[in-house]
Amino acid sequence: MSSNDVPRGSGRQEIDPAVYKTLLESTKAIPWKIDWSTMRFAYIGPQIEELLGWTPESWATVQDWADRMHPDDRQRVVDFCVAQSKAGVDHEADYRALTKEGSYVWLRDVVHVVRNPDGSVDSLIGFMFDISERKRTEERLMGLQRELEDLSFKDGLTGVGNRRRFDAVLESEWIAARDAKRPLSLVMIDIDCFKQYNDRYGHVRGDECLQRVAQTLRTNATRPRDFLARYGGEEFVLVLPDTDANGAERVAARCRDAIAAEAIAHETSTVAPNVTVSIGVGTIVPADEDAVKRFVDEVDRRLYSAKERGRNMVVGRAL
Ligand code: GH3
Ligand code: MG
Ligand code: MG
Repeated sequence: MSSNDVPRGSGRQEIDPAVYKTLLESTKAIPWKIDWSTMRFAYIGPQIEELLGWTPESWATVQDWADRMHPDDRQRVVDFCVAQSKAGVDHEADYRALTKEGSYVWLRDVVHVVRNPDGSVDSLIGFMFDISERKRTEERLMGLQRELEDLSFKDGLTGVGNRRRFDAVLESEWIAARDAKRPLSLVMIDIDCFKQYNDRYGHVRGDECLQRVAQTLRTNATRPRDFLARYGGEEFVLVLPDTDANGAERVAARCRDAIAAEAIAHETSTVAPNVTVSIGVGTIVPADEDAVKRFVDEVDRRLYSAKERGRNMVVGRAL
């Protein structure tokens, strides 16, 4: 039913085109119209000049519109809008529009396709919205999100991976090693007599010691996919993908030596005058998916046999 059919006295009135024009030109959204046959702007709201600096008269053709788009957005947006328009489908696109000063403003263009009675496209009409504030907020939120994701995988004290991250990395490396039929190694490291360290030097120094140990371990696992996590209080774990037993035991020995070489004083240790670590190492070519826990338990047993045998040593292949 068109407005002409509205009976008089119903309360609706014909609106003067000048009123429409005033309404259109006083909104923040920028209205425009493109004739499909000529691909020329039939109209663009004067607000465009305030936003981008280009006068309404300077928007002559669709090419002007495409030219004033960020080069990284142009192909995607133009292809998308042309395809949607040809198909007669209303659509919207976000892109960066060039300002006269040479900067960019994020716009959302919301497009309505007007068709002729025979179904062919007559024109496109739409509104451009300034969404730069929204984009800025989005980018800030995405940055925060990344930071949070990062934090939720990191141990707060030492900055190495946390237990949660260890579980995820071990699981994915397990599957990768199984599929590639390659060895996967695990190194578990526990600081010796750390309870005495805290008792003697206090928790603050204890925390500093944990940070130094983590840092030392980190610099001694050098391959790009080597992964270090804090497994528990004073216990760390290294995941060494594509590393055989010899390689893993070499890394473990290097870690033990490097911690000793740090010479962090530990007067009350029953092992040495400095901080030392005990290490368990294991290597496996994973065959089945359920055996991860058994493997971790085995490496843990080796760590405890290093403790039993006097600490400050590496225990690898089963004794
Ligand atoms: P062992 O040589 O057998 O490993 O003896 P240990 O004393 O190192 O092991 P135990 O498990 O008996 O004690 C671990 C101690 O580590 C307990 C606690 O005082 C300390 N610890 C655990 N987490 C933290 C931490 O986050 N900060 C500090 N400062 N100390 C911690
Ligand atoms: Mg300990
Ligand atoms: Mg422990």
